[in-house]
Amino acid sequence: MEDNISKIKERLSIVDIVSGYLKVQKAGINFKAPCPFHNEKTPSFFISPERQMWKCFGCSKGGSIFDFIMEIEGVDFPEALRILAARAGIELEKFDSSVRNSKDRLYEICESSARFFEKQLGHSSSGSRAVEYLKNRGLENATIIKFRLGFAPKTWDALSGYLRNSGFTEKEIIDSGMVIKRESEGIYDRFRSRVMFPISDVNGRVVGFTGRILEGDEKEAKYINTPQTLIYDKSRILYGLEHSRGDIRKKDKCLLVEGNMDVIMSHQAGVANVVASSGTALTPMHLAMLKRYTDNLDFCFDTDSAGAMATKRGIGMALGQNFSVRAVSIDDKECKDPADYVKKYGKEWEKIVSSARPVMDFYFEKAKENYKPESAESKKNVILTVAPFIKSISSRVERAHWINKLAYLLRVKEEAIEADIMSVQDDLSVYSTADRRQPATGAKKTKLPVERDILNETLLSVVFKKPFLFKEEITALDKSFLNSLASQVFGELAKENLEQFNFGSFAAKFNSDKTLDLEFIYLRSQALWDNFEDDELKVEFNNILNKLKQKIIHLRLADLGYEMRAAEAAGDKASIGVLAARFNELTQALVKIHNF
Ligand SMILES: [Zn+2]
Repeated sequence: MEDNISKIKERLSIVDIVSGYLKVQKAGINFKAPCPFHNEKTPSFFISPERQMWKCFGCSKGGSIFDFIMEIEGVDFPEALRILAARAGIELEKFDSSVRNSKDRLYEICESSARFFEKQLGHSSSGSRAVEYLKNRGLENATIIKFRLGFAPKTWDALSGYLRNSGFTEKEIIDSGMVIKRESEGIYDRFRSRVMFPISDVNGRVVGFTGRILEGDEKEAKYINTPQTLIYDKSRILYGLEHSRGDIRKKDKCLLVEGNMDVIMSHQAGVANVVASSGTALTPMHLAMLKRYTDNLDFCFDTDSAGAMATKRGIGMALGQNFSVRAVSIDDKECKDPADYVKKYGKEWEKIVSSARPVMDFYFEKAKENYKPESAESKKNVILTVAPFIKSISSRVERAHWINKLAYLLRVKEEAIEADIMSVQDDLSVYSTADRRQPATGAKKTKLPVERDILNETLLSVVFKKPFLFKEEITALDKSFLNSLASQVFGELAKENLEQFNFGSFAAKFNSDKTLDLEFIYLRSQALWDNFEDDELKVEFNNILNKLKQKIIHLRLADLGYEMRAAEAAGDKASIGVLAARFNELTQALVKIHNF
């Protein structure tokens, strides 16, 4: 495996691979391009042919050639390996593990089942009823074929018999989720007398199914889904993504709908940048997947479900993950979802979708409609309606904007509104705080440490640009201001012969988990300080170091503040004295830095 990975790295140039997806341009000894993973006009996505890696200094994604393929193709590591091995002309058979093989068997079962169901559609009297149902919902033939819709016949063993005859073992068929194990012995088909919607992964491989009951058989559950299997994890599968990812990227936005039928009908009406989280509520993993393609999400809901918890949670999560979120609302009472709307109005659907408005506007207007200035209760209701969303917004500027609008509407001071909003307990915050623990989502609480780490990295990047320039600084540096990586690096730099500094052999001294960080910092040093003269580098070094010191002192002051309050509450006079002295020291240190 390791062998194959290094062979691939040797044979392929990262610049060639990335150029297949992006328009790259030369930047010194590196290359740069507008980042495909976040919205930007000025390129901050850098590729280093020398180090065989890439890094975006805007959204901070980066890594090897494999990480790039995983991100841009939305695939897992084995798949990325497969794609790149094919490009490099390397045979992978040898290291195919048994998991790989059993996964492949499940893909084969799902594909065979999809073909089986496709054939059944229209091939019996109940198969014809299924076609009739689809036609009644407004589907055209081409759409039925494109989405590979099918029919599961009303028997206990049609599919399982077919799969057995195709050479799959009972265990494999059970593992695929297509059948249910009897308590006594044997198996029976999970899907019977149902219209079948194959669910595919982002590469278009069928991984599971949703089966919908035919009209008239309503005693049973309306929809059933394949259970969790080795290849089907519904918290990570978005229905329709294999058809829509190109359009999502092209339009730089994604329309989120609730059901499979909504996705299908939206495609039929010409709106193809659409997905649904099928069979489950939207998860943070779904959003992380979409983030690879766009930062703009349009939620579609009918006016009734705008207040539904699942919808609100989804929106809250998306705001928390820094998506710009808009609302598409269907106001026709006869249409409960996009599928109904397309059936009734066809191409008009495109107009509805393009009339989406920012989700905060939508909820703000809703709150305003119900507001009665004379009632205190009504004031509270307005705050309750919008607070969860305002709290979820991760941009401070945008949050301030909405607090200001609310203050104006309710004729209350902004500070009071802010305090009210922050004190509202709601179900959304459970989600947003859970999300905030993930490092990728520019979180409020983790902002300080993150900013501190960035300052550490920037400081290192200046030094890497011309290490011998900073000989004195390196030995004189007060390491208590540095994070652990930076202080280790400065420690090692102090032992180096800086006149003959070589980054490659220097990086090799560190553990593999740190080398990647160092590679990024090195790339940053080339990208950031390309045209800087020696004296300018010195100035930058001092500026960054001062900023870092200020940050650390502010953090320590905040901690001291808490400790002092605790000591006061406990009436611990001795401690208060010590803490106060420390507080003065730090404030003076801060003043010194300011006057520097
Ligand atoms: Zn980026």
